[in-house]
Amino acid sequence: RAKQRGKSTYEIFAPAMHAAVVDRMELEGDLRRAVADDCAEMRVHYQPIVELADGKVAGLEALVRWQHPRRGLVQPTVFIPAAESTGLIVPLGRWVLREACAQAARWQAARHAADPLAPPLTITVNLSARQLQDPSLADDVRAALDDAGLPPHALVLEITESVIIAEPSAALATLAAVKALGVRLAIDDFGTGYSSLGYLQQFPVDVLKIDKAFVDGVTRGGPRAALTRTIVALGDSLALHCVAEGIEDELQRRHLQALGCGYGQGFLFARPLPADEIEAMICDGVAA
Ligand code: C2E
Ligand code: MG
Ligand code: MG
Ligand code: MG
Repeated sequence: RAKQRGKSTYEIFAPAMHAAVVDRMELEGDLRRAVADDCAEMRVHYQPIVELADGKVAGLEALVRWQHPRRGLVQPTVFIPAAESTGLIVPLGRWVLREACAQAARWQAARHAADPLAPPLTITVNLSARQLQDPSLADDVRAALDDAGLPPHALVLEITESVIIAEPSAALATLAAVKALGVRLAIDDFGTGYSSLGYLQQFPVDVLKIDKAFVDGVTRGGPRAALTRTIVALGDSLALHCVAEGIEDELQRRHLQALGCGYGQGFLFARPLPADEIEAMICDGVAA
């Protein structure tokens, strides 16, 4: 197409495009190798989810990273799209799930030993659309819980609205099977989809995660703040937990708490960190 528009366009854009395509192919090849190697180069970082009222750690979100031999620590926004388009997200996602459940069970035991009255921790794991199309998902989830010795209610699986919209009936069947295990479900990045809200009554959702875009707007007044207020009220009236994502400052925390949002996650409390740097927060209870 560039060629049809004239030789000069072709000459300017082709080398950069070529480099991008080569880079992408290389990344995919490396990803295939990394996943085949039992995900040995993959790391799971954990970000605390806290109670807004007192900053106590209620749970953790598992966020995958890739310790690439040449590229260094690669963020999921770079390789998750490639993992999704190649289907590698299915074995990669299964690995993250198993890793996170095993880690959560160890933390749960340490926390209980430190304070038998501390509320149980939840561990949250992201799921991609491709994983919901995999008929063995519920079996994989059950195996991950059993092998870790983690009770099902301690696990929260996050999906985005787009996952539901893409394949509603298949997604519904898979999610029902997962729910039947006793696992809870969260809608991630809530408010950024373009769906009707109708699916909320059809899907067995337990948690709304309010996207960072609304958190950023909450202190500025205007339409974003009004929408944030409405989302919290919606969660409240459907008896769902609300988690505000990407809280970076104290003012945002205070506004969200005043709106009745119960939980939050963000750099104000802690960045996603390797497991060994999380341990203390879980046993002391407070992120900071
Ligand atoms: P997400 O699930 O919405 O995760 C929240 C993202 O926001 C994380 O980015 C987190 O580091 C970032 N974040 C948290 N607090 C703050 C804050 O205060 N300020 C800012 N600016 N950012 C904050 P991360 O770790 O780069 O992950 C990006 C996305 O990659 C995730 O978005 C999720 O969609 C996807 N992802 C990560 N791990 C997995 C995984 O194991 N499986 C799948 N399918 N997707 C994953
Ligand atoms: Mg998430
Ligand atoms: Mg999110
Ligand atoms: Mg997100």
